[in-house]
Amino acid sequence: MPICRLISDENSHKPIRLPHQQTVVLGRGPETTIKDRKCSRQQVEFKAECNKGYVKVKQLGVNPTSIDSVVVGKDNEVKMKAGQQLHIVNQLYPYTVQFKEDPTGHYGGTKRPRQLSSEDRESLREDQSVKAAKKTETVSVSVSVGEATKSTESFGHWSQGLKTSMNDPKMQVYKDDKVVVIKDKYPKARYHWLVLPWQIISSLKALSEVHCDLVKHMQQVADQIVRQCPDAGLLRFRTGYHAIPSMSHVHLHVISQDFDSPCLKNKKHWNSFTTDYFMESHDVIQMLETNGRVDVKEGTSELLKLALRCHMCLKDIPTIPALKEHLKSHFPS
Ligand code: AMP
Ligand code: ZN
Repeated sequence: MPICRLISDENSHKPIRLPHQQTVVLGRGPETTIKDRKCSRQQVEFKAECNKGYVKVKQLGVNPTSIDSVVVGKDNEVKMKAGQQLHIVNQLYPYTVQFKEDPTGHYGGTKRPRQLSSEDRESLREDQSVKAAKKTETVSVSVSVGEATKSTESFGHWSQGLKTSMNDPKMQVYKDDKVVVIKDKYPKARYHWLVLPWQIISSLKALSEVHCDLVKHMQQVADQIVRQCPDAGLLRFRTGYHAIPSMSHVHLHVISQDFDSPCLKNKKHWNSFTTDYFMESHDVIQMLETNGRVDVKEGTSELLKLALRCHMCLKDIPTIPALKEHLKSHFPS
């Protein structure tokens, strides 16, 4: 059976062995050399399935652990394979897993980092819905609308909610053989839609040159939705992706620039749409055409902490209520 090792992509320490079917808990501490207080001492739990070629990853800490930029979510468990990248916390401390044949024919054995008790282990619960969602990720061609609509698995964890919504006819405002458009459930402006491919793609990181046509089609559909909007002449729209999404499955935001919505509640919401955290669809297409992948700049998560600034007149505004009041001057109702 192969042995599994967790590799620090920043080479911060030696690989950590993940013995077959044994829980290993890592976080801030000497094993990882992580000193960041945002990282819990027990941030992530790993359980390698060496014969199956994956590791179950469970987020124990409060702050987000992510795989390929998609947040795992507290107490949620997902599978991670070789080739995927895990960030222990807040998109920092990148790791990959490696499966290698054990030359000795044994497995396990080396000094193990902190482990959970058997009681804790028993409480490990595979999230069936995430499993189902992950399974569909292996589909490499677009499925027809009919087929996709039929797959009504419940995708459990909140981060999988878009997959449920996109299959809900009540949420759909447009669909064709490649994409579906839904209304954002918590719109951050008067008009806010999401364009999603039927083909399940976990995040921007999973996009490559083979997706160029799909992403261009998503843009065309977004343009069409905007043209059909009754306020298209009055409002400006932007189409783009959050550099670090919170929801699984690639989705293109189509959003009017009034940001007049009770769902826009905090600085994070504001900055996610008005700073470079919002990656223009055209830029994403260009990156895919030029480099065959989408690169997210280092430090992007910090953009969410920037001071509030009006995107229209660039005036600094101290609070969200003051910003909402100020926006009325640009967008009278
Ligand atoms: P992000 O992952 O940051 O790009 O944003 C995800 C978007 O999905 C947000 O604008 C949410 O308001 C929206 N959203 C969250 N849950 C759902 C859901 N179940 N159905 C439709 N939209 C959702
Ligand atoms: Zn202004």
